[in-house]
Amino acid sequence: MKPGEDSRQSVGIVGGGITGLSLAHYLDQRGAEFTLFEAAPDPGGVVRSRNVDGHLLERGPQRVRRTDRIDDLVADLGLESEVRTADPDLPICVYADDELRSAPFSAEEFGETDLLSADAKREVLGEPFTDPADPDETAAEMFTRKFGAETYRNLLGPLFGGIYGSDPAEMPVGHALSGLLELERRHGSLLKAAIQRTAGGRETPPAISLDDGLQRLPEALAETHADSIRLETPVTAVREGDGGEDGPTYELETLDGTSAFEQVVLTTPAGLTADLVADLAPDSADALRELNYNPLAMVYLRADIEAEGDVDPAALGYQVGFDEDLRTLGVSWNASMFDRGVYTAFLGGMHDPEILDESEERMGEIAAAEFEQVTGAPAEVVDVNRLRRGFPAYDTSWEAVERVELPEGVRLATNYTARMGVPSRIREAESLADEFAERLD
Ligand SMILES: Cc1cc2nc3c(=O)[nH]c(=O)nc-3n(C[C@H](O)[C@H](O)[C@H](O)COP(=O)(O)OP(=O)(O)OC[C@H]3O[C@@H](n4cnc5c(N)ncnc54)[C@H](O)[C@@H]3O)c2cc1C
Repeated sequence: MKPGEDSRQSVGIVGGGITGLSLAHYLDQRGAEFTLFEAAPDPGGVVRSRNVDGHLLERGPQRVRRTDRIDDLVADLGLESEVRTADPDLPICVYADDELRSAPFSAEEFGETDLLSADAKREVLGEPFTDPADPDETAAEMFTRKFGAETYRNLLGPLFGGIYGSDPAEMPVGHALSGLLELERRHGSLLKAAIQRTAGGRETPPAISLDDGLQRLPEALAETHADSIRLETPVTAVREGDGGEDGPTYELETLDGTSAFEQVVLTTPAGLTADLVADLAPDSADALRELNYNPLAMVYLRADIEAEGDVDPAALGYQVGFDEDLRTLGVSWNASMFDRGVYTAFLGGMHDPEILDESEERMGEIAAAEFEQVTGAPAEVVDVNRLRRGFPAYDTSWEAVERVELPEGVRLATNYTARMGVPSRIREAESLADEFAERLD
């Protein structure tokens, strides 16, 4: 159906990032009709790969975990031969007490690691005797209370908070760690859950990318479903339509006209969603505008750790311990994971938004100097990318999500209604497609 035609279709999707495009794919598999509207000329949203001076740089995700669902998508799209898989044994490291060390992910590694002192390890073993996590305490309070201050500052805080550029002291457990609450309920303790997970041989899926970068995945989805996808077509508003006898409809307004759908799915970032639903649900729009996103600077570095550094060059990357005096939050080692020759340093985050106001040259100098401090290898800056609204902060501002109420026919499938991360986004898309296919049948 062309926009502007006045007949009603099953599902209208706003946003051609990985959520919208995988939803399109799953709806198509289930025989449901849909139209997807994407504002930008190319698909992918946050998933964006660029070639700069012969280097493949990822502007968004650096790697994706190859879950079964991603495996199936790769097969559906015929992309198997383009997949690059990182060695599953590569460690993720933490830089703490002036040293780079592997984070322990098994009982054996926990026994051997010197990232934690003997006292800190004893405190960790006491976790099953602590009170259960409380949704209203902060992640920092919960980790410190259950595992001890040292383990929080040298391991759990950097691994968890660093991922979002957030401070766990500002992140309520109920919002930021709902999955962990569920794990604790099921296993009786977080430590028991971790032990059972590793002892049971349930391995973390390996990290993957694609030869031309991760954006190849949304691009292939968009090519496959091109007939139902309108690129460069921003939706300007969502309105309640006159559904008549067949029940309510929802209209998506674009510059080309208006299209009516039984079901509308918005996959846009919170501020943009607020603009789209401003007339339909003004209170929800106000609530959505309250959500904080952390600013991020990404500095792409070229270095040769193997020849010039003094650390093991084989790793997924590192996060920086909370007691270190560095502005770098963490570094993704794309050189070691995918043989890409670049390292992506993340700076900024909740407590250092000012770094985005520095010149690119200055940001590059800081990232390169700190990279050399950690690895011993001098680094050259390839490029710098600023994201004013980067990672969802999952801080107390996220409580506003509870005030968001939209009509049943307008659904949100986003980082703020479920988890961020490509595997989680695809999971939500598939469960929505299942629900719609059943309902619209
Ligand atoms: C820097 C960074 C690093 C990350 N690293 C990882 C990682 O290593 N691994 C991982 O799994 N995940 C990672 N993530 C998270 C992951 O990338 C996101 O969770 C996911 O890509 C979000 O996809 P989405 O489709 O939900 O949203 P988006 O990608 O934001 O897509 C929304 C789309 O809506 C479009 N749009 C906006 N307004 C309109 C409009 N009015 N009309 C039509 N279209 C509109 C946008 O152009 C965009 O394409 C990272 C995220 C960031 C920011």
